[in-house]
Amino acid sequence: MEFVFLGTGAGIPAKQRNVSSLILQMNEERGASWMFDCGEATQHQILRTPVKTRKIEKIFITHLHGDHIYGLPGLLGSRSFQGGTEPLTIYGPIGIKEYVETSLRLSQTHLKYDLSFVEIVEDGLLFEDETFRVEVLPLDHAILSYGYRIVEKDKPGELRADLLKEAGIPPGPLYSKLKKGETVQLEDGRIINGRDYIGTPKPGRVIAILGDTRPCENTVNLALHAECIVHEATFQKGQEEMATDYFHSTTIQAAECAVKAGAKRLILTHISSRFTMDDEIELVNEAKAVFANTELARDFSVFKL
Ligand SMILES: [Zn+2]
Ligand SMILES: [Zn+2]
Repeated sequence: MEFVFLGTGAGIPAKQRNVSSLILQMNEERGASWMFDCGEATQHQILRTPVKTRKIEKIFITHLHGDHIYGLPGLLGSRSFQGGTEPLTIYGPIGIKEYVETSLRLSQTHLKYDLSFVEIVEDGLLFEDETFRVEVLPLDHAILSYGYRIVEKDKPGELRADLLKEAGIPPGPLYSKLKKGETVQLEDGRIINGRDYIGTPKPGRVIAILGDTRPCENTVNLALHAECIVHEATFQKGQEEMATDYFHSTTIQAAECAVKAGAKRLILTHISSRFTMDDEIELVNEAKAVFANTELARDFSVFKL
């Protein structure tokens, strides 16, 4: 898995930072990408990355502020125009369906793929399949804003071919049954339990991607023991009062969330246009003083997970 940051600015586009959008590339895990928020001109940003619009399988919207959704209708239309035929699901707060459908209807945009919506009506589990689970909780922002916790399920351990060989069990179709943990009987009468020959499971990773927010309990709940947290940092150290007034967080508050959650890594994004590229070192260093493993995303930053 890897993150590709498409937009890392707060509120309005700036020369160096476009408004919010983030791609979670999961080529190996599911041959698809997930998008988190889609600010204006996100599709232009994609053109400068290896991200393929038609590979986007799910879009998760944190909240309905314009800097997180104004790129959506255009992106959806282009996905169709560029030959995207795979279904796409959009998750987000109540209202996202009306916004997208109205935009597509009035502009007479006809999609050549199935577009479905899951509007968030309750906290907790939002999506689950064999490999991933996504949980959602509300945060503390001027309008309803959500954070997502993406949980990769544990991968079953490898079949220990070395041990099977040692026990004189010849390779064959039997192995696939043993791999599933089934019990089989050999021709010589021995009964073999697959579970005795499976290595330790590989624990799945947990990632928290949080929408705009003030510090709150749910940022910590979503980020608990996460491999990586993506947290907004619209303001810097010493601007706590302003952060509170505008329903945002400072670098320090983001770092404190990572500490409380016992997370491994923190990536700061949603950086105000008042900060220049020269200010970045200061921003990241003040967060690092609280939580050492902090990085700051720029547009087109790629982070391997
Ligand atoms: Zn925002
Ligand atoms: Zn917002």
